[in-house]
Amino acid sequence: MELHITCIPGDGIGPEIVKEARKVLERAADKYGHKMIFKDVLMGGASIDAHGVPLTKETVAEAKAADAVLMGSIGGDAATSPWYRLSPELRPEAGLLALRKSLKLFANLRPAVLYDELADACPLREEISRAGFDMIIVRELTGGLYFGERKTFQENGVRKAIDTLTYDENEIRRIAVKGFDIARKRRKKVTSVDKANVLDSSRLWRSVVEEVAKGYPDVTLEHMLVDNCAMQLVKNPAQFDVILTENMFGDILSDEASMVTGSIGMLASASLNDTKFGLYEPSHGSAPDIAGMDIANPIATVLSAAMMLRYSFDLDREAQAIEKAVKLTLSEGYRTADIMSEGMTKVGCSRMGDLLAEHIV
Ligand code: NAD
Repeated sequence: MELHITCIPGDGIGPEIVKEARKVLERAADKYGHKMIFKDVLMGGASIDAHGVPLTKETVAEAKAADAVLMGSIGGDAATSPWYRLSPELRPEAGLLALRKSLKLFANLRPAVLYDELADACPLREEISRAGFDMIIVRELTGGLYFGERKTFQENGVRKAIDTLTYDENEIRRIAVKGFDIARKRRKKVTSVDKANVLDSSRLWRSVVEEVAKGYPDVTLEHMLVDNCAMQLVKNPAQFDVILTENMFGDILSDEASMVTGSIGMLASASLNDTKFGLYEPSHGSAPDIAGMDIANPIATVLSAAMMLRYSFDLDREAQAIEKAVKLTLSEGYRTADIMSEGMTKVGCSRMGDLLAEHIV
């Protein structure tokens, strides 16, 4: 298979971690007989330095022309970087928001996996962390409270603010389809999270999700109220496979789920549109405090690249080979500084990339 991938190395540690992810992807491509064609483009701070704007038309065109986009991360230190003395629409993050919009990305995927080898980093009680967990949060990204009409005004001398939470059935259906499709590639269980005891939008959400579920008789569907879900994530995270939810609930729950893994350098993410196209990036930022030091953990980006193979190219076997390489490398005791513990072997970013590539068997 020939895969066209646009790479956005970005800022800070971005170029270092993307380099390692490419190394691992190339090894997987060699092993399984695929051809990967990479094209690097600028975005964020790097684009501001080169072109004066965080996103150019050329970058958008290159992203659209590819089968998928692999990104490092963008941005700098807000206190010291000159990028943050520019007006908000010219800052690095504005480029990412505009790119996501022009690619029509509406489904955000955030896996939260607790590796046995890193269970010590998990802040939960030992009997809970010992059970491990492996879930993915599928969050609607373009509707709901963050995009509804809003206003702030005065009424009888009292300040008042209104935000509106709107979803139509088509928006709910397309994200539900993504959630069920993803469950089919995993343990075939969807937990749809809402607040149907209070909100009309949640009652519509629940009924549309049930309609979609009829097309997936092999996938188990359960509903959970968002307050209960927030509790269950720390009480019994092992119960979850796919959590399907709307924008704001997903924003909060995906941060909660990732924090219970305890390892920021391990968290992958993806944003998809209604084709197979996706933008794949680690959940963490550009870590300007450690940029250029060859100590960043590339695993989140490598796991994002594995997601790209699975969700944009349906190369599940190749994705699994990368995920296995991560587990194997960890089980042999190799650690970057952020996940280092006593008795383990500390390696830098580049060496970790080499090890991951070598462990693709
Ligand atoms: P951050 O995630 O970059 O860093 C937080 C802490 O985690 C730092 O101590 C950093 O060294 C560490 N860290 C992060 N990733 C790591 C890795 N792979 N290996 C080892 N350690 C790692 O968050 P921040 O400092 O709040 O943000 C820095 C910049 O990143 C800001 O400009 C912010 O806007 C941007 N940012 C970008 C994205 C994105 O591109 N999608 C996401 C979040 C933040």
